[in-house]
Amino acid sequence: QAKRAGRNTYRWYTSRLIRDANHRVALRNSLEQAIILNKLQLHYQPQVNCQDWRFSGSEALVRWVEPERGIILPGEFIPLAEETGQIIRLGAWVLEQACRDNRSLIDAGFTHHRMAVNISPLQLRQPNFADTVRQALDRTGHPPELLDLEITESVLKADAQQIVATLEAIRDLGVGIVIDDFGSGYSSLSYIKHLPATKLKIDRQFIRDIISNRKDASITQGIIAMVEKLGLTLVVVGVETEAHAQFLKRNHCDVLQGQLFAHPVPFDELKPLLTKGPPKLEQDPESTTPTL
Ligand code: C2E
Ligand code: MG
Ligand code: MG
Repeated sequence: QAKRAGRNTYRWYTSRLIRDANHRVALRNSLEQAIILNKLQLHYQPQVNCQDWRFSGSEALVRWVEPERGIILPGEFIPLAEETGQIIRLGAWVLEQACRDNRSLIDAGFTHHRMAVNISPLQLRQPNFADTVRQALDRTGHPPELLDLEITESVLKADAQQIVATLEAIRDLGVGIVIDDFGSGYSSLSYIKHLPATKLKIDRQFIRDIISNRKDASITQGIIAMVEKLGLTLVVVGVETEAHAQFLKRNHCDVLQGQLFAHPVPFDELKPLLTKGPPKLEQDPESTTPTL
């Protein structure tokens, strides 16, 4: 009985593997079509500057738009694109499109609006990646100092020296380097030491419980202090509640991004959103000076 169940499980498992393999081939081919047929779209999520409580820039987040399936999120196709190598072309398209869109915002009067673009480790490992960045800037006329490239800690896993050289060449162009998902890896501190970063971005998992969990609050405060000492800028993503925003603002975090302020939107909805600005916070009781 148990044996038969085992065999059935095995059979189910192999057929599933085959199905998945077929599925992956199909997915790779349709991603190819999506790239060719311009079915990729960039959405933008604005970021709030804590100093003046204005939107100071946005992060470009790629979407795959299929008429029947709707919007496919990057978590579903970026890993595949990395496996097949399609990420190189996809990533180059994202970079240039984000620069082009931001250039048009800058021309429309949002003169200081920054653009953050996610870069895959595979793109960074291309020996000529700094040239790709320079070309995107040249072709779109985007000011280098308003562009930030977001990289993850995993970039240093292979050939650290070459990666650092590439990042330094990009820094020399005037472009900012953001360490994304900071704290989620195992050797975060050595990354800060070796990478020519200008910003650190901590993600949602870290700040989710800062209100209820003393430890999480202390870690976040520690990161904020470290970032300040290093002369870097701290961005926090995944800000969902007013309490989060108040805690982070009170603790002198630099830039906030999250659903509390705005979801990622298509480019044609970005300008009105930026014009309207972020919602004001309710009065923060802990930040008011006590009356004596
Ligand atoms: P990420 O770079 O860490 O981007 C932040 C993700 O958090 C985005 O998910 C964003 O929509 C989501 N997010 C922002 N605020 C909140 C919030 O308040 N609550 C919650 N629950 N989520 C929030 P998205 O758009 O699904 O992107 C997922 C990941 O895919 C990105 O994580 C990034 O690593 C990758 N990605 C997106 N676009 C690109 C791209 O053009 N190239 C590459 N290589 N990767 C990309
Ligand atoms: Mg990012
Ligand atoms: Mg993240």
